[in-house]
Amino acid sequence: MKPLSGNFRTSYKDKHFIIAIDGPAASGKSTAAYLLAKKMGFIYLDTGAMYRAITWMALNENADLENEKSLSNLAKKINIKIYPLEDHPGVKVYVDEKDISSLIRSPLVNKWVSVVSKISGVRKAMVEMQRKIARERSVVAEGRDIGTVVFPNADVKIFLVASLEERAKRRWKEFQEKGISCSLEEVKKNLEARDKLDRERNISPLRKAEDALVVDNTHLGIFETLDRILNVVKDKIGIEKNDL
Ligand code: C5P
Repeated sequence: MKPLSGNFRTSYKDKHFIIAIDGPAASGKSTAAYLLAKKMGFIYLDTGAMYRAITWMALNENADLENEKSLSNLAKKINIKIYPLEDHPGVKVYVDEKDISSLIRSPLVNKWVSVVSKISGVRKAMVEMQRKIARERSVVAEGRDIGTVVFPNADVKIFLVASLEERAKRRWKEFQEKGISCSLEEVKKNLEARDKLDRERNISPLRKAEDALVVDNTHLGIFETLDRILNVVKDKIGIEKNDL
């Protein structure tokens, strides 16, 4: 067979990369990660949606939400499928073929998700799923422990933060748009309570990986945030100018 000849330039798309975006609740991780994944042709991995799905299932089955054994068993058998939406940031989430995409964003799930995600058996099952997905293709994964525990060797690590006031306003606006009635104060309290539980838990707490870069988007819009992240990504993984 004739050897291939010519000027072949490899693209970043021919290699395998993991980009980790962590940060507190409602800091804009999901939108930024979705848009980045789309731009780069990577899989968008919304790990929060997985913890929300198991929380929804536990609530739906009237399980005792503080019983480690029964929740760990539930996590082992849950059949979650997550697909990014085609045309705007977000995911479709199915458990046993039932579409629970909007159910997992309810105030009740918001209230319990950080309690359920403290359980080590639950985390073990979710982390296994996340690593399996990333084995196949490059990913942009977002959550709380991506850069510290799930993918400690990620190629790029971002820690996305914003003030509590700003995060609460953004989340409250989303609820209003969906017709879910709640006060700004309630939303703020829930974010504060979730962050506290997520930061103070023993296993995989929310924290910045030592080698993560902090991006504060309190005063940035989504496209400015994406631009900042893209600059870090280009720098770290050496993307050619015309490649993106
Ligand atoms: O990102 P999102 O707000 O949807 O996450 C919901 C909850 O899931 C978090 O408050 C946290 O308790 C849990 N979570 C986690 N580890 C992750 C992602 C989310 O514990 N990697």
